[in-house]
Amino acid sequence: TAAHKTTSDPNAFETTHHRKNPKPIDATNFIDNEFVSSSAESWFAIHDPATNDLVSRAPQTTDAELKAAVESAQKAFPAWKATSLLARQQIMFKFVNLVRQHWDRLAASITLEQGKTFADAKGDVLRGLQVAETACGITTQLTGDVLDVAKDMETRTYREPLGVVAGICPFNFPVMIPLWCLPPAVVTGNCIILKPSERDPGACMIIAELAREAGFPPGVVNIVHGGAPTVDFIIDEPAIKAIAFVGSNKAGEYIYRRGAEQGKRVQANLGAKNHAAVLPDANKNHAINAIVGAAFGAAGQRCMALSTIVTVGDAKNWLPEIAAKAKDLKVNGGFEEGTDVGPVISPQARERIEELIASAEQEGAKILLDGRGYRPDGYPSGNFQLTKPPQVAPTIISDVTPKMRCYREEIFGPVLVCLHVQTLDEAIKLINENEYGNGAAIFTRSGAAGNHFQKNIEAGQVGLNVPIPVPIPAFSFTGNKKSVAGGGMLTFYGKPGLQFFTQTKTVTSYWQNADSSLAERAAVQMPTQS
Ligand code: NAD
Repeated sequence: TAAHKTTSDPNAFETTHHRKNPKPIDATNFIDNEFVSSSAESWFAIHDPATNDLVSRAPQTTDAELKAAVESAQKAFPAWKATSLLARQQIMFKFVNLVRQHWDRLAASITLEQGKTFADAKGDVLRGLQVAETACGITTQLTGDVLDVAKDMETRTYREPLGVVAGICPFNFPVMIPLWCLPPAVVTGNCIILKPSERDPGACMIIAELAREAGFPPGVVNIVHGGAPTVDFIIDEPAIKAIAFVGSNKAGEYIYRRGAEQGKRVQANLGAKNHAAVLPDANKNHAINAIVGAAFGAAGQRCMALSTIVTVGDAKNWLPEIAAKAKDLKVNGGFEEGTDVGPVISPQARERIEELIASAEQEGAKILLDGRGYRPDGYPSGNFQLTKPPQVAPTIISDVTPKMRCYREEIFGPVLVCLHVQTLDEAIKLINENEYGNGAAIFTRSGAAGNHFQKNIEAGQVGLNVPIPVPIPAFSFTGNKKSVAGGGMLTFYGKPGLQFFTQTKTVTSYWQNADSSLAERAAVQMPTQS
């Protein structure tokens, strides 16, 4: 494949480049620290969701190319494992600095391919950067335990890398989620094969460039593209020991099950339906702003989007004000100044979202605010080759009941679903009966109510007057119920994230002192006293 090797185009995936010259760029695989063009026969077309311009293409990488990535990682592993922790840490420091320096460029790539607003894309980068920054503190995070267990005998634990590991990422956080995987995996001594979403591969191309510049040796970081066939290759490849997956339940449950069958570790963060209980004693202004921001930010395409509220008692009267605030949000292309809500990822996503809104209407709910068929001012229709852009304006559905499809299914769009109950306990029961359990929030001024909610709610991440309680990487991302596969035993980042990427080795040693007496005969029975 030497003939296919290219250096990365410094303008690649830069927004300005695309604006001046909308020639689409083909994403290359990143194997052995080289950008390698794929000889793929099928390609995924990536359109700027705001304009429908074709901006890039991602290859369905061939099996031979995927094998080359695995071989590169396998070859790199022994030396990388033997590289001192301090040396690995130094490379992480450089990587973190480079991500900071290229922050705007990464964010621009996100807005271009994924559609979220530029300001929000910068937050996407930050939340990934924080995981990389935390990985720099690895020298105090990977220490084992040691105990004198008997005379001259001690037991100690080590955490060793697994070998070649993989990360499979969703479209909605093109930087944050690759950086949930890469830093903890490589700083602990593994080599990673990272597969970005085929819907927005550009940010990972920049990450590849920065990883090489930071000094990761060839093979430690490999990036491959593709859809389900790439995922199947990763599952079936015996050299890959662990898979970190973030995405939908459909794909994640399949990967978890098939990965486990192949004896792999799999961590899988899945879909969500995050609720807030809104009590009438809450600070109304704070609650309304928090709900509107968390429901419609990123056009609702966050796994921790606050997509459902349960108003308790008189809090129901706040719905018109929530609708007024939501109506005020500016819907436009993500690069346009002052945009609050960008487009959704694709025309198919728009159709699915609008169909779910229609189903709510048919099932007897009320459409309090209807954002279907929205066409932003900033983009005259001539800019769109589509009959309708993939833009959905904020939509609020009230009088929803738990049986309705709009409540049962993850909408993953700028749609807030509203249910109503009379008491806090009814709200808790309703939320607990939902099969997802990523996050839940409560808005109240009552410490007792907040405490009661926190103790009794079945969600992995709970916010008390905090709409999107995603913990910083000193903690872990702890989804629950159907929002994580296999009960979410080892969650992403934080201590469990490091445990996921390492194997515990427990060593018991006996170094006999000169003055100790030697055993006179072989001990054949298990000790009955210590
Ligand atoms: P997706 O499942 O469609 O895609 C995720 C990855 O899986 C992609 O890399 C894709 O190539 C691969 N994939 C898709 N279908 C596959 C199949 N049939 N077989 C094998 N691989 C397949 O998810 P998405 O639409 O990109 O992301 C949105 C979803 O991700 C939402 O459900 C959202 O809640 C979830 N998400 C969860 C978290 C979390 O931490 N819980 C974070 C972000 C996103």
